[in-house]
Amino acid sequence: MALDDDVRAELAGLEGAHRLRTQRVVDGPQGPTVVLDGVEVLNLSSNDYLSLAGDRRLAKAAAAALDEAGSGAGASRLIAGTQRAHVVLERAVEDWLRCGGVRLFNTGYAANVGVLTTLVHAGDVVFSDELNHASIIDGCRLARAEVVVVPHRDLGALERALADVRGPRRKLVVTESLFSMDGDIADLHALGALCRRFEAAFVVDEAHAIGAHGPEGRGLCADAAVEPDVVIGTFGKALGSFGAFAATTRPIAELLWNRARPFVFSTALPPSIPASSLAAIEIVRGTEGLERRRLLASHARRFRDRVPQAGGARDSAIAPIPVGDDREVMRLTAQLLEARLFVQGIRPPTVPEGTARLRVSVAAGHTVQQIETACLSLNNAMRHVV
Ligand SMILES: *Cc1c(COP(=O)(O)O)cnc(C)c1O
Repeated sequence: MALDDDVRAELAGLEGAHRLRTQRVVDGPQGPTVVLDGVEVLNLSSNDYLSLAGDRRLAKAAAAALDEAGSGAGASRLIAGTQRAHVVLERAVEDWLRCGGVRLFNTGYAANVGVLTTLVHAGDVVFSDELNHASIIDGCRLARAEVVVVPHRDLGALERALADVRGPRRKLVVTESLFSMDGDIADLHALGALCRRFEAAFVVDEAHAIGAHGPEGRGLCADAAVEPDVVIGTFGKALGSFGAFAATTRPIAELLWNRARPFVFSTALPPSIPASSLAAIEIVRGTEGLERRRLLASHARRFRDRVPQAGGARDSAIAPIPVGDDREVMRLTAQLLEARLFVQGIRPPTVPEGTARLRVSVAAGHTVQQIETACLSLNNAMRHVV
């Protein structure tokens, strides 16, 4: 078949460029160590920053909800799919993040697309950091707004671009708080001030920070006492569950209910999922959450003290080690796996051309000994990088 032949050629092209993605299979729960393709390895590749994904309390909450409310929501939230668990979780996030309205989404990807396409349209202008996540980029494209791509964390460039806009167009600044592939942090305070000065809406994607940073794990905006119009968070990373939310004002949450297409036209999350997310929030807000965040930050600092090439903010769980070459980074991943260390190499298009890297992520559940072992193996491997 002609299409199949074309597709095979496209795949061969990816393989030739060392860009073909393959699958590795985990057996058993996600955690500080995992069984990967049948071998137990130290897991330095997951976003399960607080080591909650394998926690029995989350699994039990999900199991109880499955028992009580069944496996599927059966419809979108707007039709017949709003179950008690959705409403309870939205209230719980409002209370946790102290905001006027919360809308759940099935994924963080859907949240970014839903929020951006609801808040901006053709004729509006979005100012988007050049390293923003693919779901933000796709949201901007689908919104058909004009997009000004701002050099990474360049406040001066953003200020000039904002000052350049003429006429009564809606302006919206969107950024990640903790950048997913670089582990560095946006200057949220300065961004918030620029948005106020230029009357721009402000949307912050806290996918990697929610749960892992800030008072009660409320994220980096809460930490900086900044209140954007919308905070996007996911339950799939530090909270160890699944699904996502937009934390915002009551009217924006209501508009999202009416207009956000990935929300309106998609089956609601099965009730077991919000139930496990709720259990995660309880842990994250309590003293155990605080203790886990302290461990996480301490591992992050230890790692950076031992591995000087590691980038990112000092307390951040995400520590990229620059390599550059796509083939070399995949060779390193394979070599580290031999030493039972799972560090996923990250290649374009996930990161810009020529900036392939090992993306190390530490987790609260790692032991100090495991971090030390990881540093030794990584330093050893990096000595032989060409
Ligand atoms: C992972 C991620 C998302 C998507 O969240 P999911 O719940 O996994 O779909 C959105 N934004 C950023 C910055 C992310 O890293």
